[in-house]
Amino acid sequence: MTVASRLREARVRRLFDGMVTVLTEAIAAGGSSISDYVDAEGRKGFFQFSHRVYQRTGEPCVNCGTAIRRVLVAQRSSHFCPKCQKPQVQ
Ligand SMILES: [Zn+2]
Repeated sequence: MTVASRLREARVRRLFDGMVTVLTEAIAAGGSSISDYVDAEGRKGFFQFSHRVYQRTGEPCVNCGTAIRRVLVAQRSSHFCPKCQKPQVQ
């Protein structure tokens, strides 16, 4: 994990492009119905089946097989692969 304000421009662009890609896919899938989320017409989304780390603590990373870890960040759960998402020091 890296503090966003320390990212160089090329990495900010890459992060932004990734966010747009994931959000576009999530919206197309109707969102993530993890607890009680439904759309305005009461339909559940199905993007939760595409999550690669969220709520997959202990399960293997789809990229490298390392167990997914969970940490608290500002009192919220954050899930990540400790091998693919190594902390970056800049
Ligand atoms: Zn991984």
